[in-house]
Amino acid sequence: MVGIVIVSHSRLLAEGVRELALQMVPDYISLAIAAGIDDVDDHQLGTDVLQVQAAIESVYGDGGVLVLMDLGSALMSAEMALELLPEEKRHNVYLCEAPLVEGAIAATISAAAGNDLSQVIAEARAALAAKGSQLGVVSSSLLIADKNQLPPVDDAPVLEIRLRVSNKLGLHARPAAKFVATAAKFESQVKVKNITRSTVFVRANSINQVTMLGVRHGHELAITASGTDAEAALAAMKELVESHFGEDETAIWQPGDGDTRPYRSSVTSDLRGISASPGVAIAPSVLYINTPLPRYQLPTAPLQQYHVENSENEWQRLQNTIQAAHQEIEILLSETSTQIGDNEAAIFDAHLLFLEDPLVLEALQQHIFVEHLNAVAAWQAVVDELANQYRTQEDMYLRARAADVMDVGQRVLRLLAGIAATSLSFTEPVILIATDLTPSDTAKLDPANVLGICTTSGSPTSHTAIIARSLGIPAVVGVPESLLQVADGTMVALDGETGNVWIEPDAEIIASLTTKREAWQSSQHQATINVHQLAISLDGRQIEVLANIGGVADAQIALGLGAEGVGLLRTEFLFLDRMAPPSESEQYEVYHAIAQIFPNQPVIIRTLDIGGDKPLPYLNLPQENNPFLGWRGIRFCLSRDELFKIQLRAILRASTSGKFKIMFPMISTVTELQAAKLIFREVQTELRQAKIPFDEKIDIGIMIEVPSAVVIADQLAPKVDFFSIGTNDLSQYVMACDRTNPQVADLADAFHPAVLRMVQQTIKAGHAAGIKIGMCGELASDPFAAPILLGLGLDDVSLNPQAIPNFKSAISHLTVPEAEAIAFEALNLDSAAKVRSLISTFSYL
Ligand code: PEP
Ligand code: MG
Repeated sequence: MVGIVIVSHSRLLAEGVRELALQMVPDYISLAIAAGIDDVDDHQLGTDVLQVQAAIESVYGDGGVLVLMDLGSALMSAEMALELLPEEKRHNVYLCEAPLVEGAIAATISAAAGNDLSQVIAEARAALAAKGSQLGVVSSSLLIADKNQLPPVDDAPVLEIRLRVSNKLGLHARPAAKFVATAAKFESQVKVKNITRSTVFVRANSINQVTMLGVRHGHELAITASGTDAEAALAAMKELVESHFGEDETAIWQPGDGDTRPYRSSVTSDLRGISASPGVAIAPSVLYINTPLPRYQLPTAPLQQYHVENSENEWQRLQNTIQAAHQEIEILLSETSTQIGDNEAAIFDAHLLFLEDPLVLEALQQHIFVEHLNAVAAWQAVVDELANQYRTQEDMYLRARAADVMDVGQRVLRLLAGIAATSLSFTEPVILIATDLTPSDTAKLDPANVLGICTTSGSPTSHTAIIARSLGIPAVVGVPESLLQVADGTMVALDGETGNVWIEPDAEIIASLTTKREAWQSSQHQATINVHQLAISLDGRQIEVLANIGGVADAQIALGLGAEGVGLLRTEFLFLDRMAPPSESEQYEVYHAIAQIFPNQPVIIRTLDIGGDKPLPYLNLPQENNPFLGWRGIRFCLSRDELFKIQLRAILRASTSGKFKIMFPMISTVTELQAAKLIFREVQTELRQAKIPFDEKIDIGIMIEVPSAVVIADQLAPKVDFFSIGTNDLSQYVMACDRTNPQVADLADAFHPAVLRMVQQTIKAGHAAGIKIGMCGELASDPFAAPILLGLGLDDVSLNPQAIPNFKSAISHLTVPEAEAIAFEALNLDSAAKVRSLISTFSYL
């Protein structure tokens, strides 16, 4: 059985929660409390790590332990207690973010029912849903109350306004979502009808009813409100409609985008995009619609309908599942909005509102409590009915919404069936087509079956492109949108070097691409023959060649491809694609495992570089207009130092097993560097006091990727042991081009002399201070950059593992004076195109 531990500052509170929880179950379950400090009778507030540890040990069994905490230091105490547990137990103890009282009760009931730890966690997490539903607060995160459930206020007059909708596409996904959310903020009952279409009044807080009004450009609405704040409600609705729902008319979501895309046979011409990862691929295409359950993975088993006795349980199960679906969509929404754009993300706002729609919830209650249907059948019935209503609409836009309803419907059914979200896995070779892929989507791709990637968004320096390169998957990004109309299974060819894409290529094109692919594979093969040789120029100058990695698997690949260590461990990848940050011990395991792969070679661990195009949904980072100019990298870590310290502790603890170096990202001022070093010293002191060994001589370095850091490189250099130049960010900041924006990808070119001069300036300042200068930006992974980098005097480079053989081969064909001459000439050219043309004349590959 799962054991439960309540950690609270107050012993009285913890005892009360225990009493309440145990009353819910017939038999005693293993439930311990750790609360208050000092003498029990004093009721002194606080939490004690050892008490928490003892409580966990006291209820520990094979089923594992769920720990619920009240707040603040209770969390820290629980985390530290976890660290004190023996390794084998630690993995079976879960610190849960669920609300203390509701969570404890739900978890106790679930544990007493004999559920396993994952089910108990799920119950505890979803514990607020039932309360929310009872109070009519359907979403704890949005706090939208369905006031229309309340009886009408007797004497309150019904106020009415009439408004004309002037935005181009009427109430499409995003405006409809805003309309519903605004209406739901008020106590008053707000209703709306489409006068132009002569509809009846419907509830303004129901996304489905509002959408089905079919409001288009120029339609007139009547909006009524009755209740205490009716005037304010109507004023808010008026402002919303008159401000065109805050929409930029040029960038609105188009009907039909993102869901159903019929094949149009007219798409036969070649398409041109931006090369993002070299290589040639020819294979049938698969369109990945960035929805959670791609077409080819829908569960096909028939749904079971049966009579349930305990409707309350069934309702609770459905509520919990809806809550879980809500969480999944929120993550998807936040990823989409940061990585693709708010307009594309708006569709997921509508998905969330669908889950919260009071009409949907009422219909479900009817099926479950009155008809005693099981949750799956009830859900299916409501989804089918709604989807059919949309399908039978005359309006094409409304008909297309059926796909959204089905999408949300399938998600909940999958969760009810206990099926985890599927990743993008294929059993046959494919070329993956998408608007964009998230870094975590891309990271999960298997190069054995995903032969190529083709996206309409993205840029060569986006993390998606970087990962594609490190996976060795040819990729073209920024391809025109007509690509998305290609039917699944159509033969597609792409050349990741030129950015060309062919739909149904003819035999001649296939033959020439096949020749190119073979030549490419053979040059790759040739280079890999000597992978373990060092990168030494013809006249004897060596550049250390390290690898950019995201985890243990990459480290192993890098070793095989001749990496002489790790020049950049992007630790943020350990934090992506999960519901909570990795604990100190989880991080320790990864760092330790990498040290085992490179025991005597340098391993540069970059501290968390989150933000930009790598958001972490569970950290609730605020939406930013310019995430790349915002709260990312070291800026985030300095203000969230609890997370930073855990990471530094993990790195330091693992440092005894390898030759680690620590690198701070996004340093833009001396003050930031000093602050980061101060926190680092604090962690060192704590470890010393706790007698935990670590490498006392560990090197500290920084990334040079912000222009200000280049300019003050002479001030920064004496304070660190090394610099590593990050040309991906440096190019975007120097050239003022968002690295994920295909429109400006050509401009954000690290070969531009403006960027190369920054590289030169950094190397000079670093060498003047006697420190080593490396480069881990993507420029170094381009083998054509090798002469410039050798000529500018870099000491080491850190590359995508796949690029290592070619880089070594390039260096071995050069002399330093020759490279210096090339670098000198490149720096004096006036465009990236001229630099590329200069270096393309050197055939050292
Ligand atoms: C860089 O900016 O060049 C770099 C290596 O860091 P990242 O790509 O992870 O931002
Ligand atoms: Mg960077």
